[in-house]
Formats: sequence, structure tokens, C-alpha cells
Amino acid sequence: MSEKESGRGGGSILPREFYANRQAGMESIKRWRLEQRAMSAVHALGKTGFDAVYAADRGQAREEILNRIPAGARVGVAGSMTLRELGIPEELKHRGHTLYDHWAPGLSDEEILAVRRAQLTADVFLSSVNAVTLKGQLVSTDSIGNRLAATTFGPGKCILAVGANKIVPTLEAALARIKDVCAPLALHSIGAPLSCVRTGICGDCHSEARMCRATLVLDCKPLHSDITVIIVGAELGL
Ligand code: SF4
Repeated sequence: MSEKESGRGGGSILPREFYANRQAGMESIKRWRLEQRAMSAVHALGKTGFDAVYAADRGQAREEILNRIPAGARVGVAGSMTLRELGIPEELKHRGHTLYDHWAPGLSDEEILAVRRAQLTADVFLSSVNAVTLKGQLVSTDSIGNRLAATTFGPGKCILAVGANKIVPTLEAALARIKDVCAPLALHSIGAPLSCVRTGICGDCHSEARMCRATLVLDCKPLHSDITVIIVGAELGL
């Protein structure tokens, strides 16, 4: 072995070009990882009975969602950053659908509650989840639980859009993701006075503003449900 190959004598084990190429290709390396994990998640969700679909990018994800919503359907839209990043509520409004969107501006507290209730009996319910495991589980935590209820039972159909950044290996990792990532970011975005917002780390609070109150784990597709999960090979949502 030469001195250069062994790294002795001040030489590098790998040629300089290797590092330069790797840096230049960092975006495609990250994208590759997301795509691979997305396809693994689709496979795992298929095994647990979900209609699981891979979308390579945001454009394809939009198409996969919109193509599944029949004309004239009444659509419930969960409080999901993913759906907003994909521009779904605007497009549905443009297409003339009745939308039950509790993030719509100008609603009173009573109206927000009424919209959440209406989501439970919509023709189609759109949402995301906080984590997908590579065992084919869907995991979400809410402060109220309306999203959890509407995902499981009520609406005629449920479509979940999930960025590959939400894929984790196990249920334990999913629950950790919710308190390490989802709750602090969601609560930071509304300026909630909580320890996870002050420090970025869950303090297992007992505050009135606590988000982590109800958790739903779908180990398999619930009987009599119609749930499509669109896994996007890109970062989306929190
Ligand atoms: S339990 Fe409280 S502190 Fe911990 S992540 Fe949830 S809201 Fe934040």
C-alpha cells in the first residue's frame, strides 16, 4: 500500500476530487435518501393494508391527491402544513368544493369548532401524520383529537400526504419525533409559552397550552376505512 493510500505521510486516503464531488452532489445525496426511505415506507404500508402511493415530488403529490377527490365532494382539511405547502386548499376552492378548513381566516372560536365537527362527516378528509414507521404504522398526536377521529372513522375517504422526512424506523422513534420535532416547531410557529418552545426540548409540560394530549397509532388500516397514504420523496411539513 502506498503512503497516499494508507493516509500516512500527510496524504489523503481518497483523492481530493472525491470530496469536491460529494459536496457538489449533496442535494442529490439527500434526495436519494428521502426517495429510498419513501419507497420503503410505501412497501411497509402496503403490508399493513393501506393504499400506499409513492409521489416523487410535490407536483406529483398534488396530482395524486386531487385526482382522488370527486367533483362536488365536501372536503375536510386538517390543520396540516403539508397540505398548505402543496397548495391543496386553494386549488380545491378554485375547483368549487365545499371546504371545511378550520385554519380559514376570520373564523370565531364557535365557527372553528363547528368546522372541526363538520370534518368528521365530510366526503373526503385530507390530512398528514406526524410519523410513518418502517413497520407500516401511522402515528399522530393532537391537542384536541379531531384529526385523529376523522382519520379513523367518519369521512367517506381519507387521504394522507406525508413527506419522507417523517419516516422513522420504529414506533418508539415516531413518538420521540413528535416531542423532539413536531410539537416544538408547531408550537413555536404560534408562539406558545411552553418549555419546548423556549428550549427546543420537550419538558413534559402540564401547561394549558400543551399540544401532546392524544396520540393515535394505526398499526394496520382500520376495518371499513378507506385510507390512501401518499408518501412524497421530499421534505414536507413539520
Ligand atoms: S409535552 Fe409539552 S413541552 Fe413536551 S413537546 Fe408536548 S407541548 Fe412541548
